[in-house]
Amino acid sequence: MIIEKAEVVVTSPDRNFVTLKLTTDEGITGLGDATLNGRELAVVSYLRDHVVQLLLGRDASRIEDTWQFLYRSAYWRRGPVTMASIAAVDMALWDIKGKAAGMPLYQLLGGASRNGLLAYGHASGKTTQELFDSVREHQEAGYKAIRIQTGVPGLKSIYGIASNATFEANTGVRYDHEPAQRGALPNEEDWDTRSYLRHVPTVFEAVRNEFGPELPLLHDGHHRMTPIQAAQLGKSLEPYDLFWLEDCTPAENPEALRLVRQHTTTPLAIGEIFNTVWDYQQIIREQLIDYVRSAVTHTGGITHLKKVLEYASQYQIKSGMHGPTDISPVGMAAAMHLGLAIHNFGIQEYMKHGAKTDSVFRQSFSWQDGFLHPGDQPGLGVELDTDEAGKYPYVQAYLPFNRLADGTIHDW
Ligand SMILES: [Mg+2]
Repeated sequence: MIIEKAEVVVTSPDRNFVTLKLTTDEGITGLGDATLNGRELAVVSYLRDHVVQLLLGRDASRIEDTWQFLYRSAYWRRGPVTMASIAAVDMALWDIKGKAAGMPLYQLLGGASRNGLLAYGHASGKTTQELFDSVREHQEAGYKAIRIQTGVPGLKSIYGIASNATFEANTGVRYDHEPAQRGALPNEEDWDTRSYLRHVPTVFEAVRNEFGPELPLLHDGHHRMTPIQAAQLGKSLEPYDLFWLEDCTPAENPEALRLVRQHTTTPLAIGEIFNTVWDYQQIIREQLIDYVRSAVTHTGGITHLKKVLEYASQYQIKSGMHGPTDISPVGMAAAMHLGLAIHNFGIQEYMKHGAKTDSVFRQSFSWQDGFLHPGDQPGLGVELDTDEAGKYPYVQAYLPFNRLADGTIHDW
């Protein structure tokens, strides 16, 4: 089976998505997600200008060989643009293999290890009351695990808080957190770590008092603390029994996590901006985290993330795959098939896409009683409606950035 056609489809139904569509000489198509939030067109160029011509005429069945070829032949390795491009090719080839076999992808990965995937959603509020309302809405929608993000007194706009001021295309769609804003320039938000560290434990105390001890609660620090501040936060949240504390400090310096570990038993999750197993090598070997946050889309596809998670499994470290709305339905389907098959699945992040996105990407997953299942269609189980996709051209959008009160740029 030969790859005859490779198309890169850019569409912006509720937000920008980049999709690779491969077609074989037998007429089987495969889809791969290559969406890199805020830098989408860099991946489009990498695919269109450098990868598509390498795929034409290749044997579509040789997934591992194609992965190694794209990774090693480029000479310039790793990085989000390269690895999202390779991921898209990898996903599309797995999709084709599943369709050729007449099997859902999870069957080819070893079959189901569980009945469904526990998923968590994002509750948020500027005030405690708004946050409680959001938690209740999530419980009504079936969520059995919930991420808690809250406004901080004195700060106007910070990461993780649902806003009605999301870009205009989302009117009528409640996105609990859609940080990328359409426009020619990124939005500026503000930040103060001391105010945050004082406020967050009081919010978790209030949530536990209101919703009881059973509900699994998560929190995202979004890379904004120094190692000692992260340690302080982990320690102060221990009474509230978090499922995990995510990105407590920037992950480029893995040794920082040793210091955090010395001071707190709060479980740690990291890796949504990682793209290879080498980013994880030290923090997995030294057992400095509890959950791997990578998305299939940003970590070289199913072939590579499966290797990361197998390595992690030796240390009882579990998956917690990234699943914000900028992972397209194709990338989410890949996460669901992989999560269903591996033994060390932990939890899946799941934010519902908007109605326009669902009309462009026809999906076959199910969401029931807090659990996801990828469905039993052959391959990934997602089809791209190119006519619908064509209605929504790319729109420039950026993630925001942070400044401290004195004007210093801070991690967002
Ligand atoms: Mg995160």
